[in-house]
Amino acid sequence: VPVSLAIVGATIVTMNDGREVIEGGTVVIDRGRFAAVDRGTRDPHADRLIRGDGCVLLPGLINCHLHSRPGRALGDGLSLFEWHALFPDRFCRQMTEADSRAGSLLAFAESLKRGTTTVMDMTCKPAGAFAAAEEIGIRARIVPLAADVESAGDGACDVYADFVTAIGGRLPGPDARVQYWLGFDAVDGVGERTLRQMGKDARRLGVGIHGHMSESRDDAGWTDRTHAMPAALYLRRAGVLGPRTVLAHCNWVTPEEIAVLAETGTSVAHNPTSNMKLGTGVAPVLELRAAGVTVALGTDGMLSNFHLDMFEAMRGACMLQRIHRLDAHALMSADVLEMATRGGARALGEQLALGSIEAGKRADAVLVDIGGVHFRPLIRGRHDNLTALLAWCAHGSDVRTVVVDGTVVVEERRLCLADEAAIALDAQRSAERLLAAVPDIAPRP
Ligand SMILES: [Zn+2]
Repeated sequence: VPVSLAIVGATIVTMNDGREVIEGGTVVIDRGRFAAVDRGTRDPHADRLIRGDGCVLLPGLINCHLHSRPGRALGDGLSLFEWHALFPDRFCRQMTEADSRAGSLLAFAESLKRGTTTVMDMTCKPAGAFAAAEEIGIRARIVPLAADVESAGDGACDVYADFVTAIGGRLPGPDARVQYWLGFDAVDGVGERTLRQMGKDARRLGVGIHGHMSESRDDAGWTDRTHAMPAALYLRRAGVLGPRTVLAHCNWVTPEEIAVLAETGTSVAHNPTSNMKLGTGVAPVLELRAAGVTVALGTDGMLSNFHLDMFEAMRGACMLQRIHRLDAHALMSADVLEMATRGGARALGEQLALGSIEAGKRADAVLVDIGGVHFRPLIRGRHDNLTALLAWCAHGSDVRTVVVDGTVVVEERRLCLADEAAIALDAQRSAERLLAAVPDIAPRP
């Protein structure tokens, strides 16, 4: 039975076109959508009332790139290549649908509790992740870590053609909270023929495409060595770029590639904390944005990044550009707040439904408790620091209540639809079993 809900008394950071901030406003949610966003705290006549005093109400954060494998903080200090061969590749080869579900429940539990309402999850055995998202209440686009046998041999954890056959007859409608997207793990793991088919399938099925591109310098050189052209030009030739394609990383793109991404309307998911942790490169975020490319934010997986906190990703994005360019003005708090909300929505091609708190949009919202001493002094008006406090001082642990599609999924910092202790235990068991087959890390000389 649909329940109407009102959130009253919060400072509403709407992220609408005028970037309006409403002090002590009222948000009414009905049948999964924002029905009204008003100044003042009138009696909203809703079935259920949530007090938001002392909190900021933000649009739900959108994490445009993560992997939900059941592992965390493994292989610290290894290069991308060494670490990938030792952990992600071995995990993927053994993962069952139950492991995928366990890893995804863990990743989605952490995401929701830290204010992320939408995830783009690229994972092995995607049916397990899909079930996890349906169960826990998060909005998700589930993407296979797909490859083809010609390019990846038996290293392919999900074979692209098998995935398309499996989902072919049972795609949820375009309004569904949980949907499948198509995608590829790495440009060198799929042949051009498979990519061409993927572009056709995406148009036929009405879904998007997500893949990794040019994360490390070595990745970026692969198409130069094999096809005598940079990766973005190769992907354009293969027919997979477009307004519903999101490429993770793009750390080593050339000006020519930036122009191709802009021309085709392709979006980029920037993962600053993962890139810093693995030492892979610095995405040209300013050049991409200046060219008109939508840049969304992601955390990458908890195996590579250790956590799935989009507040850390926002902060990391600012800090990375500023130190890289020796320019304190390079990327601002307001820019990263936009990337984590409206930018993510645009990357998904869902800017009409997500990314801001406006009547008519899907009701995904997050109450951030700004009562803590780490939010004081709070200054409004002249020297206003509200946006800076959100970008620089907030942590996922400040999130109190989370609403997705009009349903309360986190309340007083606890999940409402799933059992946290059971989720932690299942993920622990999966990780221990998967790690049994991973050899010891060779000592460094
Ligand atoms: Zn990734």
